[in-house]
Amino acid sequence: MDILRMDLADTGSPEGLVSLILKHEPSLPLPVPIEELALQLEVEEIAELKTEGFEGGLVTDKNRSRGIILVKKGVSAARRRFTIGHELGHFLVANHVPDKDGQFLCSKTDLRTLSAKEGDRRAKMEVEANRFSSLLLMPPPRLRDAFKKHPSPSLEHVFDLADRYGVSKEAMARAYASYHPEVLAFIVVKDGKVGRVYHDRKRFPFITASRDKPVPQGSLFYKKGFTIGIPSAIDSRLPDIWIDVSRDRRGATLSEQVCLQQNGYALIMLWHENAEDDEDESEDTTARDRWRAEQERYRRD
Ligand SMILES: [Zn+2]
Repeated sequence: MDILRMDLADTGSPEGLVSLILKHEPSLPLPVPIEELALQLEVEEIAELKTEGFEGGLVTDKNRSRGIILVKKGVSAARRRFTIGHELGHFLVANHVPDKDGQFLCSKTDLRTLSAKEGDRRAKMEVEANRFSSLLLMPPPRLRDAFKKHPSPSLEHVFDLADRYGVSKEAMARAYASYHPEVLAFIVVKDGKVGRVYHDRKRFPFITASRDKPVPQGSLFYKKGFTIGIPSAIDSRLPDIWIDVSRDRRGATLSEQVCLQQNGYALIMLWHENAEDDEDESEDTTARDRWRAEQERYRRD
């Protein structure tokens, strides 16, 4: 590796930083060697976090002239990697300022924060650190190559990529929904209830199932005989189980794939086919748009 921290100067956004890192290190192996990269970018040390109730931290000063990344002991390799990416994000994104003197402390919730209310500065920093970590550990150009080689979406492919990129299944599902050319959503289920939902809001139709409510009747989830850890077959279902069909102009088909997991968890993939290609007027900027805009910018430079 020969990238230097000063190569990243004057870059404020997670997309900009990761674009530059990939430009300087075009042949990063997979899984991305995140610890090595952090040390190369002037992080002094990756040490154990001893503060209860937090997943990660960054010891630094006001100008971030130095940085020590802290990670909770005993977490899985995938979680450790994501946390290091997140703290490296706080270290490199120019306007991140710790709320406590000289130290960022990040909780489990912080590491899952994907959107922030207008004006909530702290949440915005967490969102950016998570975006940085996701982009760095799962570089969109590499994902796109993987999708070209294997165009048909499936949970098997999500799990396989999660292994290859050294990230959790859930983190990969999130990136998969954002960057896969097919229109997909992933639903995390816990004890039969709908939990976190990952989809590209611009491409995937409005999901009617509510958080903390039971998985809707008619879902493949209720079929008997699944084995924990083994994804079901992909099966087409009535679209109105999950989506508001009145807003779906072309009456597309919706398929489901379910995989039961340990401790009452399950992951459901929804696949919306033959969807209207026109994107609606929504102002939401999706991960894909942000990444594309950044690539455009670099092409022009
Ligand atoms: Zn954080």
